[in-house]
Amino acid sequence: MPQYKYADVGINLTDSVFRGKYYGKQHHEDDTEHVLQRAIEIGCIKFMVTGSDLKESKHAIALAEKYPGRCYATVGVHPCSAKTFDSHPGGPPQLLQVLEDLAIDAKKRGLATAYGEIGLDYDRLMLTGKEQQLKYFEAQLDIAVKVQLPLFLHSRAAGEDFKRLLASRLPQLPKKGLVHSFTGTVEEMQMLVALGLDVGVNGCSMKTEENLEVVKKIPLGHLQIETDGPWCEMRASHASAKYKGDAPPLPHSVKKERWNKDTMVKGRNESATIAHVAHVIAKVKGIPTSEVCEAAWNNSIRMFGLGETLEDQAP
Ligand SMILES: [Zn+2]
Repeated sequence: MPQYKYADVGINLTDSVFRGKYYGKQHHEDDTEHVLQRAIEIGCIKFMVTGSDLKESKHAIALAEKYPGRCYATVGVHPCSAKTFDSHPGGPPQLLQVLEDLAIDAKKRGLATAYGEIGLDYDRLMLTGKEQQLKYFEAQLDIAVKVQLPLFLHSRAAGEDFKRLLASRLPQLPKKGLVHSFTGTVEEMQMLVALGLDVGVNGCSMKTEENLEVVKKIPLGHLQIETDGPWCEMRASHASAKYKGDAPPLPHSVKKERWNKDTMVKGRNESATIAHVAHVIAKVKGIPTSEVCEAAWNNSIRMFGLGETLEDQAP
């Protein structure tokens, strides 16, 4: 029996590296099943698969269908892909309608548990300009309110705009939402928590000493954990590394050229590493890992459901 229970609420299982394809080149077979199994063995039993555009959202839903009770999907268009609204055949209103219909249908079937990944990314304006990001963040927030799905959010360097657009919709979203892969300041984190949002922590959220100071201050009642695999792995060069000394061992990893079904792939983060995210958060906060895991699990289930019911929510 695994010691703790985890939900990886940010995992990009639609990425081609989980089909064995890296930078367009096939290195090994699809090993999603093994990736999930490795995670389940350490107690990570729920996966929320990120949808980042229409195609990926459909793919995430297909994975939720394939792994019932394990995988759940988010539906939405990422701020960096927001320009696809303007190039969509049929125009932006049609893509918004398609997304809304998809979210309604997938929610009804118990497959979609969040609307996202949506938000603002002012660090990468070269991918989609500010005006388009704002316009389609707002339009998609309206879809989330209509469909009544909690939000899966992305925010980079967009503090005030992000707050302004959310503040007007959150009163109509009782489950609020999660700002995933948080890398902002203490003030920003406190602003999000004051709005009722949860904060998602992964390896990228613990790269620097400043990051760790923020993590230390995230209230347990608003903390969720994720890996953001295949991205955001914890590296030896990160500030988090000094807290990993007595962390539980991870499954063995090899280079992709030497892949076999029982190993992780170097440089490809996966859900089984969530144990290290929880471990470091606990060390940084100076509390037992069990406390971090229990809080994060409860917060994720309360917000997204993921096919579970909390005792305090029992009918
Ligand atoms: Zn993101």
